[in-house]
Formats: sequence, C-alpha cells, structure tokens
Amino acid sequence: MADLQEVKKMLEARVQTLSAKVDEIEDDLREPADPDFAEQATEAEADEVLEGLESSALLEIAQINAALARIEEGTYGECATCGEPVGDKRLEAIPHAAQCINCASK
Ligand SMILES: [Zn+2]
Repeated sequence: MADLQEVKKMLEARVQTLSAKVDEIEDDLREPADPDFAEQATEAEADEVLEGLESSALLEIAQINAALARIEEGTYGECATCGEPVGDKRLEAIPHAAQCINCASK
C-alpha cells in the first residue's frame, strides 16, 4: 500500500487542478454570445463540449472527495462493494477508485 499521506496530497492537488479547470470552463461559458449567427452555432457546440468536460471534472472531484473521506475513515483501498482490497495496481492507475476491478467491471 502506498503512503496514504502521499496519496492524500496527490488527490488534493488533483482536486485543485480540476477545480481550476471548472472555473475556467465556467468563465468560458459565461462569455457573451457572438452576434453573428454562424458564430453562435459554433459557440453552442463548443459550449456543449465544455459542459461535458465540466460535468466529467465535477464527477471526478466528487469521486476524489469520497476517496479523501475514505482515507480519513481508514477505509481507503477497500472495495466499497465487497470489502476486498482494491489492489495497489488499480489504485496506482485510479487513486480514487472506490471498487475493486471485479465489482467495477460488473
Ligand atoms: Zn469489490
């Protein structure tokens, strides 16, 4: 198992990066629409992409916050579904993984 304090620092840094990204997206989305209709259509499409990026960033933030809570509770690294270890390899790849590979692939 990796050093939990290190994992915590890494997750907190990731939340900060994602929050900054969400702020940036919010700023972009708030930009006034272009008066040119063709431009507006392009912007509407771009906004949809941005909204998609924003919701996936917000989802990841929520998952990371849940992982941080599990670190506090001392249940980090246990599968939320079956209670088995999530596995070091999987946690290395996805530090905020809440489920072991078996439960996650069901
Ligand atoms: Zn499991």
